[in-house]
Amino acid sequence: MQCPKCNSDFEQLQTPLGDVERCTECKGLWIDAYEVEAMKPLADVIDSGDEEIGKAFNAIDRIDCPVCPNNQLLRLVDPKQPHIWFESCPTCKGRFYDAGEFKDLATLDLSDFSRNLAWLSACNLFLLSIKKALYSQRLMIDSKPIP
Ligand SMILES: [Zn+2]
Ligand SMILES: [Zn+2]
Repeated sequence: MQCPKCNSDFEQLQTPLGDVERCTECKGLWIDAYEVEAMKPLADVIDSGDEEIGKAFNAIDRIDCPVCPNNQLLRLVDPKQPHIWFESCPTCKGRFYDAGEFKDLATLDLSDFSRNLAWLSACNLFLLSIKKALYSQRLMIDSKPIP
């Protein structure tokens, strides 16, 4: 099996959690969709490539499936970590992660997490200020002297 990004050979990594293909050159990973969750605990071990090289190869996004002939991979975004995109085969459901991406996927990214958190606390502050405004208005109305 050949790497769809750099045309080098894949090597098979056999782990207690399942088998993964890794490119011998760019260190991109080929993982079956149903194995992605299961393999996450081993992300540090299997995703040993240089993430800078991975970033460079991430720019190549029109690639064919290394398993199914004439099937172009679709570019998908991880729903929980939208800064990670990967290529996925619509037929065999295999996924290609560039070097560093799978490790990134396995550790719930702090920047995405804190972005969500910042957004939530901004909403809370806004609601609080509305509540305060309403409350003080009511107090003012309540405390109007009776003519
Ligand atoms: Zn490669
Ligand atoms: Zn395929």
